Parts: sequence; structure tokens; C-alpha cells
Amino acid sequence: MNKQDMLYRGMAMDGQFRVFAAQSTQTVQTARDLHGLSPINTFLLGKMLTAAAMLSLDLKGPGSEVSLRLDGDGELRGALVMCNDLGDLRGYAFAPSVFFEEAAENFLSVKHLGSGSMTVIRSVAGKQPTMGHTALVEGEVAQNLAHYFEQSEQIPTAVNLGVLIDKEARVRAAGGLLIQQLPQADPARAELLISRLASTPNISDLMDMGLGIPQFLKRFLFTENDFSLEEAHPIQYKCNCSRERFERGLRLLGKEELSQMLDGVKPQCHFCNASYHFTGKDIAGLIASLERKE
Ligand SMILES: [Zn+2]
Repeated sequence: MNKQDMLYRGMAMDGQFRVFAAQSTQTVQTARDLHGLSPINTFLLGKMLTAAAMLSLDLKGPGSEVSLRLDGDGELRGALVMCNDLGDLRGYAFAPSVFFEEAAENFLSVKHLGSGSMTVIRSVAGKQPTMGHTALVEGEVAQNLAHYFEQSEQIPTAVNLGVLIDKEARVRAAGGLLIQQLPQADPARAELLISRLASTPNISDLMDMGLGIPQFLKRFLFTENDFSLEEAHPIQYKCNCSRERFERGLRLLGKEELSQMLDGVKPQCHFCNASYHFTGKDIAGLIASLERKE
């Protein structure tokens, strides 16, 4: 199944709920291959990428971006993912090869993060970024994201994130669902929806059986007539790094620091592992151009 990854958005129950959904199998597979992720990191980064994709549906304007970060004092340490308004995703895990002997332990990503926090940053070109922050709670990425919305943005939110891998740790299916209750929602209907969600199977298991996101929603959460869902845009793993970007970074280091690098440097992008070679001559050129500006 090589269907392109897609973001969906919709409304449900007479506009009382907003629905965001993502099919992210290829994106998660790319992340796994690029970073050589262990199974637990495939779950962690895969779920975070899927979540960031859905969060990006709220971004306003070209050049805007959302980042989602988990930090912990446990063995897994955390991960950072980003998604822009075009649906380009990138990310990396802080301890990508951590592996647990006991198979079941490899499913419990947030448990191995220990104590820590979830951070969401939204940046719009030319404006001060907004940041929200919550302490990690028990559960997985989905529960932590729901907790984040509840605490930091006061929006009752239900989240379902799924990554399914095979014995060789290849990604069979990945996807997510995010449902937000709007202020005018009827409490009884909200309760009904929550109880249906609680008995919903894992989204990635159902996708693996060939069920698309719209069919999933129709079958398990809503009826044919009380929701609408449309494709927003495709998503993909795509890094935005370039030699120019790294060159800007090097300039920021300043003359002193650059003069220690006259043997040349090969900085590597955390997000896609591309490396850029700056020879001693390149560095000398940067120093000369900084001197000219003085
Ligand atoms: Zn890159």
C-alpha cells in the first residue's frame, strides 16, 4: 500500500466538534529509515510526527511552523518534531537507538522518558512565537497531548495516535485522530463521543486492515450524516536544510570561534543527516566577509 500520506479536517455533530486526522505511514517509515530508529523510537517519533501534522492544520499563513518537543530525564530522553503549513515534517529522537530486551517495554515510550515536559511552539513568519508547556503525565504521546490541550489551551481534546510495526520494525501503518470539543458543544453529546472513543480500536491496526480514515470515523465514532471530513493536503517527511542555512549558522558563531575551524568543518543536519562540508578556505572566506562588515 503506497498511498500518499494525507491530512484531513472536518466537523462533527452539527459543528460541536472539530476533527483532525492524519494518515502518516510513509512519513514515519522515512523517519525510521533516515535515523535508524529502534522500535521504541519509531513509536515515539512516529506518534509525535503524526501529532505535529495534525497541529499544523491550525497554523496561519505561509512560513508558519509548529514544533512539538518531549523532554525527559529517563533513558529515552525525548524527541523534537516540526511541521510547517505545507505539511513538510521533520524530526529527530534524542536517543535513537535505545532498545529494551523485554518486547512489551518497547511500546511504552513515554514511560521511558521519565519525568519531564511537553512543549508546543507555534511560529508565524515575522511574529513572536507562542509557546505552551505541560509536565508529562502517565500514558503515551496521545494522553500527553490531550493533557496539554486541557491544561495549556483549555480545549477538551481527545487524541488517538497509532504506529504499527512488523517483526523487522518496518512501519505497517501510522495515523492519528484529534477531536476537539467546541464551546457550544452539548455535554451529553460530548460524553457519548468520549465513551465511543474509549472503545475504539487503535487507529493504526484498522488502517493496516485497509480501512481509510473516513471509513474509520464513520464506522466507530459518528454516523454517516453527522460528520464531514475533507482532505486538507498531503504530508511528507521533508527537511528544509541547505548549505546557505548552515553558512548563516557559522557566521553567527563569530570570528573568534570560526578561527578555530580553519581545518574545515562538516556540520550535519539533525533532522535528515545531510552533511555540508566547509573547507578551511570556505571558513577563511566567512571570516574575511565578517571583517569587511566591521
Ligand atoms: Zn536537513
